Amino acid sequence: MNPQNPFAGTHLDRRAEARLRDDWLEEALADPGTRFLAMRQGAALVRPATEGQLTRAVFLANNDPRVATHLVPERLVLLGWFTGQRTLLVDLDPDNASTGEGEAFSELRPLASELSAPEAALLAYARALHIWRANHRHCGRCGAPTTAVRAGHALVCTNCDFESFPRIDPAIIVLVHDGERALLGRQSTWPPNRYSTIAGFVEPGEALEDAVRREVDEETGIHVTSIDYHSSQPWPFPSSLMLGFQAHGDYAEPTLHDGELEDARWFTRAQLRDGSVLLPPAGAISRRLIDSWLGAVA
Ligand SMILES: [Zn+2]
Repeated sequence: MNPQNPFAGTHLDRRAEARLRDDWLEEALADPGTRFLAMRQGAALVRPATEGQLTRAVFLANNDPRVATHLVPERLVLLGWFTGQRTLLVDLDPDNASTGEGEAFSELRPLASELSAPEAALLAYARALHIWRANHRHCGRCGAPTTAVRAGHALVCTNCDFESFPRIDPAIIVLVHDGERALLGRQSTWPPNRYSTIAGFVEPGEALEDAVRREVDEETGIHVTSIDYHSSQPWPFPSSLMLGFQAHGDYAEPTLHDGELEDARWFTRAQLRDGSVLLPPAGAISRRLIDSWLGAVA
């Protein structure tokens, strides 16, 4: 069993110190082994799955014409060294982003289970940076354009020098149980009979455990008495980090407070195992929290 959540894992040597070199781009272009991962409006250039083959990321070479027209710091990020090779993200101009034979631009989310774990993690990292840069082209303080520094890992205002860094929004996701039963809820937009764990964003001024208690109370009225950290998952849609917990809660009839859930119920292990409840898909941290409580995975 893979103990890591999808999009997680140390599959890349980031070498953060290399971002500080003034000549990082010249070095990258002089290295014939440098490869470019291309993204366009949030979608990644991939070679979609074929019979017996996983979906694969497409790595473009230095001399690919699609790269050659985008060799400016505003369109590049030094991601690190992936399988030993220097790897850059290139943000392609949507009007100038052709696909080769057998290639396609694809949203990452549905690919989570189609890519190898290392490539899924690499694309999640690249997507987080790609979306952040697209959304911070102007300074949040004075409104002037920003320019990329630190090999694309920071944006600095061209007027007031205000620096912004990649954004990560922490969110908690928690399986609440009373020992015998697990508390799951469903949103009205989900497929019929789909139930999942309780989740929500951490608010300013909250510790993670404060957010767990508040979210569970707001969504279900259940009082949480103890909280254990389980695992986490990068979730770049657009910029979340899902922090997974299991928590003990006092058994009581759930009451829906904040309107986020359409229903919340306690389920026994037998009810969750017998297939009558539609659980989150494999690859979601919510599913791993449930499977872990059921004893099926770590
Ligand atoms: Zn500014």
